[in-house]
Amino acid sequence: MINLIKIIDSKKRLLDYWKSSGIVKDKKVLEAFKAVPREKFILKKYRHEAYGDYPLSIGENQTISQPTTVMIMTEALELKEGDKVLEIGTGSGYQAAMISELVGDKGKVITTEIIPELAEFAQKNIEKLKLKNVKIINYDGSRGYEKQKPYDKIIITAACPEIPPPVIDELEENGIIIAPVGNLISQQMVKGIKKGKLKTRSLGYFVFVPLKGKYGY
Ligand code: SAH
Repeated sequence: MINLIKIIDSKKRLLDYWKSSGIVKDKKVLEAFKAVPREKFILKKYRHEAYGDYPLSIGENQTISQPTTVMIMTEALELKEGDKVLEIGTGSGYQAAMISELVGDKGKVITTEIIPELAEFAQKNIEKLKLKNVKIINYDGSRGYEKQKPYDKIIITAACPEIPPPVIDELEENGIIIAPVGNLISQQMVKGIKKGKLKTRSLGYFVFVPLKGKYGY
């Protein structure tokens, strides 16, 4: 019981921090954070740290991203009900669950994970929450995912040397892509909008685990 109270308390503290600092403004994104239990996407031994503002290990040398980073990326996607979204780097499935909440029953989240054990871990987490609009695929997402293209929004949650060309091809005209682009030490969060070509701007510097596969490191 005491642990549960601590978890709720630290979740509220994060929400207060984002609201008062103006880091996250979109009310729907803040509501989605309230709705999705991050504690269900991490290893049991870290559960009491579910709402610390830092990444946590999920095994296989990978991490669930820091809550503030998840919020900044989610808000930047400008999600609408009914959007079809591709995520590259499922990890725990938490980011996919946040997107699921915002695109609703008419929307769809297709998320690719290159490590089979993590695809399985995420599958279990998503099933526990009975999210019907999320499809997890064990695949090298750096190649995109042609079968379900085009996508209204695309999010890459691993550091990439450049946005993979096939991924840009699969983005709908006027679609939005968010991706950390740079070297292995730090990356700029790139927001791209497709207007014929991709028009990009930076949302600042972040640190991610590397994207692997054909167009990764
Ligand atoms: N979005 C995740 C965190 C991402 S960590 C969450 O909410 O928990 C980055 C993930 O990208 C890792 O799980 C890593 O295995 C995966 N990854 C790396 N390269 C990939 C690739 N080419 N295709 C799909 N997944 C990849």
